[in-house]
Amino acid sequence: MDHSTIHDLGIDVVRLTTTRKTHRPHVALSFDDHVFAVDTTRTFGNDPTQPDAYLITHAHSDHHGKSAMLSNKAICSKETARALEIRFDKEYMGRTFQIGETIDINGIEVTTHPTHHTIGSCAFSWQNGSGTRILVTGDVKDATDLPGCDFLVTEANYGDPADMSCYFEDDIAGLEQVIGDNVALGAYAFGKAQRAVSLLRRAGWKDEISMDSMGYRLTKGLMGDCGSLTEITQYNGGYEGMVIVPPWDLGKLPGSMKKYVLTGRSDYYYPAIHISDHMDVTGLVNMVMELQPEATLIYHPDGHRPLRMANHLNKVGCPAAALSEI
Ligand SMILES: [Zn+2]
Repeated sequence: MDHSTIHDLGIDVVRLTTTRKTHRPHVALSFDDHVFAVDTTRTFGNDPTQPDAYLITHAHSDHHGKSAMLSNKAICSKETARALEIRFDKEYMGRTFQIGETIDINGIEVTTHPTHHTIGSCAFSWQNGSGTRILVTGDVKDATDLPGCDFLVTEANYGDPADMSCYFEDDIAGLEQVIGDNVALGAYAFGKAQRAVSLLRRAGWKDEISMDSMGYRLTKGLMGDCGSLTEITQYNGGYEGMVIVPPWDLGKLPGSMKKYVLTGRSDYYYPAIHISDHMDVTGLVNMVMELQPEATLIYHPDGHRPLRMANHLNKVGCPAAALSEI
C-alpha cells in the first residue's frame, strides 16, 4: 500500500517538523482544512505546520504528552490529563473530555473510545468531508469498544508475527498464586502498577498495598476503588501488606521478600509473571480484521515491528503501511 491509497480516502499523512526540518514524533493527519497531530511534541511559532489539535492517546512517555500538555491545543481524557500532571508536575493546558464523549474540534465531531491500555487511554474517531471514517487508536489492550473504520491508525508494540515473544496471554493464575504478605511485584509506576492493584483487588487481596511514591500518587489520583494504599517514602523496611515498586527498585527491598516482575520480557533477574498492557500479535491482527479498514497505518512504536506488522497485514488482505514507509 502506498500514500496514494490513503490520499484517495481524502487524507494526507504528514509529519510535523521543526524549523530545522527534523521530524517531530509520530504522525499528523491532514484532511479538508484541518491538521490533527497524534502523540507528538508541540510545535513552536515558526515551525512550518501548526496543527488544529494535539491528540494525546495516553500518558506513557513515548506518546509525548509531557510536551503536548503545555499547549492549549492539547486534547486528552480527564484521566490522562491528571496522569500527566502527576507524572510531570506541570499544569495541563489543553482540553479534556470524559471517555465516550463526542467533542467538537474546529467544527469536526470527534468521538472518543476506551482502549483499556492504561487508565485514561483513549482512541479518537471522526469523519472527513469525503465521508472517510478515521480511527486513531494509540496503544490497545482490548479492542472491543472500537468502532469500524475506513482508515485505521494503530500500533504494533507486539506486532512481529515471526517473533515468539509477540504471542502471549496474561498469566492471571500465576499472579494469584504469589499473592501474600512479604511479596513484592515490580511494575512501572504508570499503567502496569494500576493494573497490578486492580488485579490484586479482583483476586481478593483486601489488605494494604505499599507502593513507591510515584506509583502511589498515580494510583490514588486515578483509581477510585484502589483499597488501602501506603506510600513508601524510604526503602528501609517495615512495609505493609503487598508491595508494588518499579522493577529497578526491587533490589532496594529486603532479600527476605519474594520478588517478581510483571512483564512480558524475560531478561529480568527476578522471575517474571506475564501481565501486559498490550494485545499480542494475534489480538492486533484480529482487531484490524474486525474493524475492516480500507487502509491501515502503523504509527508506533519505533523499530522494525510496524513494518513487520504492515507486511503481514498486506499478506492477509488488509492494505497497510508503516509510518517509516510514508
Ligand atoms: Zn502505552
